[in-house]
Formats: sequence, C-alpha cells, structure tokens
Amino acid sequence: MGAETHDFDLAGLRLRAGEGRRLELDTRIPPLLLGSERYTADPERVPVLLDVSRMTGGGYALRLRFAGALVGPCVRCLNQAAASVVVDAREADRPGSGAELESPYVSGETLDLAAWARDAFVLAAPLKVLCRETCAGLCPVCAADLNEAGPEHHHEKAPDPRFAKLRELKLE
Ligand SMILES: [Zn+2]
Ligand SMILES: [Zn+2]
Repeated sequence: MGAETHDFDLAGLRLRAGEGRRLELDTRIPPLLLGSERYTADPERVPVLLDVSRMTGGGYALRLRFAGALVGPCVRCLNQAAASVVVDAREADRPGSGAELESPYVSGETLDLAAWARDAFVLAAPLKVLCRETCAGLCPVCAADLNEAGPEHHHEKAPDPRFAKLRELKLE
C-alpha cells in the first residue's frame, strides 16, 4: 500500500489553465463523536477519487468521491450498526475572489484532503444510525431490547400517581 495522503500539493500537478487530473489516493477518516456516541468509518483508511482542474483565471475546481460506512451504536437499541455513506463533494478555490470561491480546505495551493474527506463524510452520513429501519428500540421501563423481546413484552401498568396521593391522604 502507498502512503496515506493528509495534505495534497495541488501546485505539484503543474496544471495549466483548463487542464485537469484524476487521482486515486488513500486518506484516513478519524473516529467521530455524534451525539455523545463514538462512531468509526469503515474502512478508516479509505480510497478516494480526487478530480482537480485548474480554472481559467487561476484557482482550482475540486471534486471528491468515495464510499464507506459509518459504524457505531444504533440510536434506538444501542447495538452495533452500520450506515452506508456515499460522498460526492465539490469545492472551488480562487484566491482573492471573496469568501464564496475560497475553499476552507485549500490554503495557498495545499489541499487539506483529510479534513475535507472527514467533513464530507459527516455531511453525507445519515443523521441517525439505525441497525435497521424498523428497529423497535429499548423498553422504556426495563431497557430490554424489544427486537429480541418481541411484541408480547410488556409490564403491568404502574399505579396512577393520583391514587398514590389518595393513599397518603388516608394515612393522615
Ligand atoms: Zn437498533
Ligand atoms: Zn420491559
């Protein structure tokens, strides 16, 4: 395996205006905290496709594509779950053109590929990771996994708190 790319030197491609290049690189997606839960990318070292074109008038247009999975606890039942993530992100950077055409991932002619890949991965990931669309979650009373406990799992109704109040009154 070749080296992982964190920063990528765009100037090193020596592109002329209007020229482009497609690169196959490997980068690393670090573990992420979403909500207060820890998630990892699978694979953590991910092969990406990077398209770089040099714009006429200076600067670069960039496109980043890769696919992976976000792995971590299901938000309903806390079992290990994996959600597939497909990234297709674009950035344009034309220095001195104002904020709209300046990429936060490009400084000078260096692309922070790892930061872009991480952010694009998070943006493309589902808001909630579920082990399955129909996950039944945990019992709110005893925290049993309702996927395993099945629909017949239930508890005797807790006594109505108003009756508890009445019983207290009788004691006085
Ligand atoms: Zn679940
Ligand atoms: Zn229960």
